[in-house]
Amino acid sequence: MSFWPVPDVMKDNIYQIAPRMFKNRGINFILLDVDNTIAPYTVSEASPRLIAWVKTMKEAGLELFILSNNKGNRPAVFAEELGLEYVNKAWKPFTKIAKEVLSEKGINPANTAVIGDQIYTDTCCGKWIGAFTVLVHPIEFSNIWLKLRYWLEFPFRLTYKWRFEK
Ligand SMILES: [Mg+2]
Repeated sequence: MSFWPVPDVMKDNIYQIAPRMFKNRGINFILLDVDNTIAPYTVSEASPRLIAWVKTMKEAGLELFILSNNKGNRPAVFAEELGLEYVNKAWKPFTKIAKEVLSEKGINPANTAVIGDQIYTDTCCGKWIGAFTVLVHPIEFSNIWLKLRYWLEFPFRLTYKWRFEK
């Protein structure tokens, strides 16, 4: 387990993520972020493209589970539309709730991936539970704070690029 939150894989968006990325690594359980990962904050309906992506992942034998820090009903709405289980108020990067989900389901962190758009919540949580971490680019910066947060993460994004994109 690495404490340092450099993601294992970085992609522009979830649609660049195919099941083989996980199947090759023995991963069959995916903790999926909502806000700015599968939909922008301003959208509360699953797009046809998102629905198709989830279907492809499920058909490949991957179980997706929504793990969101959102305190409202957005995680529930997307979970319903996509046919997934969910937890909101997950308090990422704290690992307590993520670990509870894994232990309730009897899943080993080594068979788990975390997909999200933020280093300091999603990637940290994933690293600290010992899961494989995939960082996607945030879908949109709807306010200045999101942009600022993105730049605070920049050293880790840059480290990834140095390490893997030579
Ligand atoms: Mg997010």
